[in-house]
Amino acid sequence: MMPAPRVEIDLKKIHHNASALVERLASRGISVTSVTKATLGSAEIAKALIDAGVSALGDSRIENIEAMRLAGVAAEMTLIRSPMLSQTEQVVEHSDVSFNTEIEVIKRLSQEARKRQRTHGVVLMVELGDLREGIMPKDLRETVGETLRLPNIFFKGIGTNLACRCGVSPDASNMAELSNIADLIEETFDLKMEIVSGGNSANLEWALSGAETGKINNLRLGEAILLGCETLHRQPINGLFTDAITLFAEVIESKVKPSKPSGTIAQTAFGEAVPCIDRGLVAQSILAIGHQDTDPYGLTPPEGVEIMGASSDHLIITSESCELPVGSEVPFQINYSALLHTMTSPFITKTVINI
Ligand SMILES: *Cc1c(COP(=O)(O)O)cnc(C)c1O
Repeated sequence: MMPAPRVEIDLKKIHHNASALVERLASRGISVTSVTKATLGSAEIAKALIDAGVSALGDSRIENIEAMRLAGVAAEMTLIRSPMLSQTEQVVEHSDVSFNTEIEVIKRLSQEARKRQRTHGVVLMVELGDLREGIMPKDLRETVGETLRLPNIFFKGIGTNLACRCGVSPDASNMAELSNIADLIEETFDLKMEIVSGGNSANLEWALSGAETGKINNLRLGEAILLGCETLHRQPINGLFTDAITLFAEVIESKVKPSKPSGTIAQTAFGEAVPCIDRGLVAQSILAIGHQDTDPYGLTPPEGVEIMGASSDHLIITSESCELPVGSEVPFQINYSALLHTMTSPFITKTVINI
């Protein structure tokens, strides 16, 4: 018997998605850093991505980067979240490049790199409206100047991140701004940056629209590769698989029950109010998966199955058309939130198929 719950990752489909995006973006002069943070440092997935032609791997957790390194993944590794001061040692040890916004951290990276007689690459992130990480544009020149003076630090370029905290869309205007800033920095310091990283999966619409890309020569893609959709409107991307990753959960109870609860109704375990629509008797099944394992709101059930509720360890579903005997499995497509939770849950088995 296959273990349940489990997430099945189809490497062939992921490889296809990655190489399709690498190819489409290459024609726009843009390289792809594949973002692995939703895969918990899986070496098998990382190797499929490298094989598909991505130029580097990016992860927000140094622990994932370390795991990939230890497993022999050979690629440039970028830490795409600003390093914690307390982790600068590991950051220099395991990653080649990190995204930064604080000179205090870069100074420490410089010291650690010097101790190890290494060079650590630094990409400075610029704030362009989404109000997550980034140096304010007016302060960038000063930080670049200071970074350039630090020993064992290589100033690799600049980047920005949009659409994550506030949903600010990457467009011709903010991308032109980043490109202009890049021009200005290159002129001021008489250098050529290796990388001008325009953003994440939310940038695809802009990047593939035929718009002027200017100096922007890199995107960091996670969700688009893994789930095959763009992230501004969550529409499938033409020619990509949206079902490379499937979550399976096992039925532990199947009974006909009323659809309407009985008794005095107060809060549920998660403080939600449950809509009490009386649909008469329904075929209700319980799956052995819950909030501890995934984001129940990020699951898409198969045709004819409907999710009715969830608690820490139970997912309640109803199925109109199919019998769901105890011990059978139900497959779900998952969104990015469910994927992150699923991959980081110790209760879920991760299996790769089509290696
Ligand atoms: C997570 C992340 C990405 C990738 O985002 P997707 O929407 O999955 O493409 C890119 N850049 C940074 C800084 C990130 O944290």
